[in-house]
Amino acid sequence: MSRCLVCVSVAAPSLETLQGCLVGLGEVDMAEVRLDALADPTGLGVADLAALVSCSPVPLLMTCRPDWEGGGFSGPEPERRELMVRALAAGARFIDLEIDATWAADLVGRWRHRVVLSHHWDCVLPPELDVVVDALIRLRPAVAKLVARAELPHQAAPLLAAANRLRDAGIGAACFCMGEAGRSSRMLAAARGDRITYATGATGYATAPGQWPLGVLRRDLLASRWKPGDAIYGVAGDPIDQSLSPLVFNSAFAARNTDALYLPLPGGPFESVLELARQAGVRGLSVTMPYKQDALHACRGVSRLARRIGAVNTLVWSQGGWQGHNTDGPAVAQVLAEHVQLEAARCAILGAGGAARAAVVALADRGASVTVLNRTVARAQALADELGCGAGPLEALGAERFDVLVNATPVGMDRTVRTPVSTVWLRGDEIVLDMVYRPPQTEFLRQARERGCRTVSGLEMFLRQAALQYELWTGLHVPAEVMRTAAESRLAESGSTVQESCE
Ligand code: NAP
Repeated sequence: MSRCLVCVSVAAPSLETLQGCLVGLGEVDMAEVRLDALADPTGLGVADLAALVSCSPVPLLMTCRPDWEGGGFSGPEPERRELMVRALAAGARFIDLEIDATWAADLVGRWRHRVVLSHHWDCVLPPELDVVVDALIRLRPAVAKLVARAELPHQAAPLLAAANRLRDAGIGAACFCMGEAGRSSRMLAAARGDRITYATGATGYATAPGQWPLGVLRRDLLASRWKPGDAIYGVAGDPIDQSLSPLVFNSAFAARNTDALYLPLPGGPFESVLELARQAGVRGLSVTMPYKQDALHACRGVSRLARRIGAVNTLVWSQGGWQGHNTDGPAVAQVLAEHVQLEAARCAILGAGGAARAAVVALADRGASVTVLNRTVARAQALADELGCGAGPLEALGAERFDVLVNATPVGMDRTVRTPVSTVWLRGDEIVLDMVYRPPQTEFLRQARERGCRTVSGLEMFLRQAALQYELWTGLHVPAEVMRTAAESRLAESGSTVQESCE
């Protein structure tokens, strides 16, 4: 099966501007030229169109969308037909025609391998989808492009099923949903073997709502060696565009020659993303903010630990249902246990949110004595009452002695120079873990080190929870160094330097 072609759409009011855009195209496989954006497209001769083909570094897909399909062309249909014939004569790799054009079948019959036959619905869950797929299977174009709107991610599932039918019939598919709620469907469609996917390119290129940036598609999807039948995993959360997980897991799968791919599946509500994932055959999901509690209630079975923590960050598809796990808690305990004997250690957790809960349960299970210190003391007290640990205000750090300090607040993210508590309260013999991992070395860790503390970066915890997910999904030993290198290179690219993770 051919690899999915990444295509950007180019639209400009003049031939010169169009040529300028094409000449400057970056790393794409193909460009869609919207001839209907030109002032007088039917005035273009074969030579004009051939000039576009020859100046483009990549093959061209030419289309001239009529106004009745939301495009800019309002002239006579016979002229549009002749323009499309000239586009083929000029060397366009594909032309894209609407299935509703009365002359489309004739052109498909003559140039089957160079026609994309498309249909766009401006509605959710089009009732006549199957009828259109039947017609496409009869006509047999090279590619069938079907696009509808989605208000919720799972509403794209019928489009993904339509793509299966088309592929089974030997027709290339490009079937997905538009809009923000369609973003996950675009990613899944490309991953499951669609022939063409549409990306946003550099400034100046036309975009449609929900398209993925070219760089993300290259990085997360096409860099992997995915082929039909391989397992698909993903991450659900909002936002997840900056997630390290796709790169980290895809690097791990590649290193182990595992036939699997890991994708970002953005959007919400969570139940809808989960339903789309189920229908697309996704075998496992990482769950991140804000869905960890939602995931707890969406599972058929939940591990005892995840139930006690009250949050699920890992889903495994097993025996017809989702099984929920929590790898955040064990990750905290494991990275700290490398530096301190946790049994009887006095641990202060700063924060009383979901990550704090995971730490409290996992550290208490290792025999540590845990106290939750939080800005909102009532919240810390509620957690303490439920989980049987101590509670207090953040300032209690100045009065009490602790062996381990865990920052489970977001303070320090995105290079803020603030620290969750004043570090003058540190004596210098504590182990300090900052769950924040972007940047991997926070101001809190820097000041803690200055006072003599040994520090553990949130990146260590992130990599450990990811490694535990990898083991749950594959049963394989994790390629830890590969995952670390991938995460560090991404963080370095985004300007977050990685120094020693523990010193
Ligand atoms: P959460 O549920 O929103 O809880 C946030 C906690 O931080 C609350 O207790 C809140 O206090 C406190 N907080 C927020 N802003 C504060 C401020 N300016 N000063 C003092 N306290 C503040 O978040 P979460 O899911 O627990 O996550 C917490 C952090 O852990 C996030 O940065 C997350 O990225 C990180 N994390 C990292 C990993 C990893 O693998 N490294 C895994 C999970 C989570 P109030 O109760 O007073 O509002």
